[in-house]
Amino acid sequence: METCDILVIGDGIAGCMAALAANAQGANVLVIEKAPKDVPHSNTAFSGGSFRRTSQVYPAEKFYQDMISLSGGRADPELTKIMVEKSRQARDWLTALGVPWTSKSRDPGAADQVDGQGKALAEILRRAVAARNIKIHHETEAYGLILESERIRGARVKTAAGNSEIRSQAVILAAGGFQANPEMVTRYLGPGGNHLVLRGSPYNTGDGIRMALEVGAKIDWMDDFHGGLIHYGYKQHLEEGAMAGMRSMKKYEVGILVNQQGSRFVDEGEYPSDKTYAKFGKLVALTQPGGVAYVIFDSATKETINPDYTGPDRGPIEAGSIRELATKLEIDPGALEHTVTAYNDSIQGEKCPSLRPPKTNFACRIEEAPFCAYKVTGGLTFTFGGLWTNTKGQVLDSGRKPIPALYAAGEITTGIFYGNYAGGSSLPRCAVYGRIAGESAAEYIRP
Ligand SMILES: Cc1cc2nc3c(=O)[nH]c(=O)nc-3n(C[C@H](O)[C@H](O)[C@H](O)COP(=O)(O)OP(=O)(O)OC[C@H]3O[C@@H](n4cnc5c(N)ncnc54)[C@H](O)[C@@H]3O)c2cc1C
Repeated sequence: METCDILVIGDGIAGCMAALAANAQGANVLVIEKAPKDVPHSNTAFSGGSFRRTSQVYPAEKFYQDMISLSGGRADPELTKIMVEKSRQARDWLTALGVPWTSKSRDPGAADQVDGQGKALAEILRRAVAARNIKIHHETEAYGLILESERIRGARVKTAAGNSEIRSQAVILAAGGFQANPEMVTRYLGPGGNHLVLRGSPYNTGDGIRMALEVGAKIDWMDDFHGGLIHYGYKQHLEEGAMAGMRSMKKYEVGILVNQQGSRFVDEGEYPSDKTYAKFGKLVALTQPGGVAYVIFDSATKETINPDYTGPDRGPIEAGSIRELATKLEIDPGALEHTVTAYNDSIQGEKCPSLRPPKTNFACRIEEAPFCAYKVTGGLTFTFGGLWTNTKGQVLDSGRKPIPALYAAGEITTGIFYGNYAGGSSLPRCAVYGRIAGESAAEYIRP
């Protein structure tokens, strides 16, 4: 039987930040990770590395308002405020660990992007953990928490050598969401959820949520998730067995979105795409015929849309006329022609106020051949529901009291995202609360 002061479950950004923070406070930390070491496995590793943080042009009040309004007013004010206020500092913590940045994100004022994206981020974090002599045991899967005298004292784990126990004075759960668990997806998101393309880790199967539930934790907001509007090519790619870092569609707000019937169904210009892609992916996959839609645009915006797609079938489907494009997309040509004409005729400035649904920003005429389209669908990026934690990262029970010696951070937690999402805000959420959970657990075990 192995022992440590603090056991961290999961080696993504939340787990690594928690381990580093607890180690810096003098705790003897052990990290366990279910996946093999040599394959990209965490959502952190699959991420685009976009990191939203405050700046002179993106003050804390604006970031906070974005989080509150995009969640329809649901985001927990206290949890959100801390995440926003510490986002800049969190970027500095990562810089100090050697994370390099580019300003290539969709909105450079509001977010930086890790050079090398999530793969580089995950590797640098793991190297930083190893450099402090914190062990990571891979292929070690936690399946139960040890509860003794009403406090958590470690976890039961499965390894190739068999089942065993790791004893600790506190546990930090950083095992991600439940998006890769078809049974939980059906139960909480509905059967349609399993038709979405899983964009990230196949290992995030809700184990941490299940284990915490067994010791009385409170879960909430389990019915919602980050969708992600993606190129349809990724779906085929995945069906052929490839695992790509699936980047979402960018800048589609300058075109129109139509369904297989050739009709518009959403205000494409409600916000720039980094504030709509997470909900549009859900909308397309769960509500449109066949779970697909098309971004329609013309030669003027061809270079703008979807610049960093990494899957097969690069470049848009093109045609010399809207009728010909419709035929290629198997849409009724008359219906698509009618939609595009009505759209062009309604543009006033950059808006189409008379259209139903309206287009409130970024309207550009679709008039110059070649006429272009991308077929899109919805991805399942990560789940929004999970464990309730307080501002110290303590896991709360159904009476909202902390469960002694149990902490959680990252995607496994809830309370911040619901309905919609601002691109690049999960990584700072995970970094900030990973560090808080590590510091709180270290403080808890201090004699
Ligand atoms: C394609 C994609 C792109 C994204 N792009 C961005 C972006 O640009 N910016 C942004 O802010 N967010 C992005 N996200 C979201 C973000 O990456 C995640 O929300 C975040 O990385 C989650 O970090 P985490 O540490 O909580 O979980 P993860 O990084 O997923 O780590 C959890 C780990 O726990 C392990 N685990 C699970 N169960 C067990 C168990 N029983 N025992 C032991 N280990 C276990 C898993 O194997 C995994 O390695 C993206 C996500 C995806 C999928």
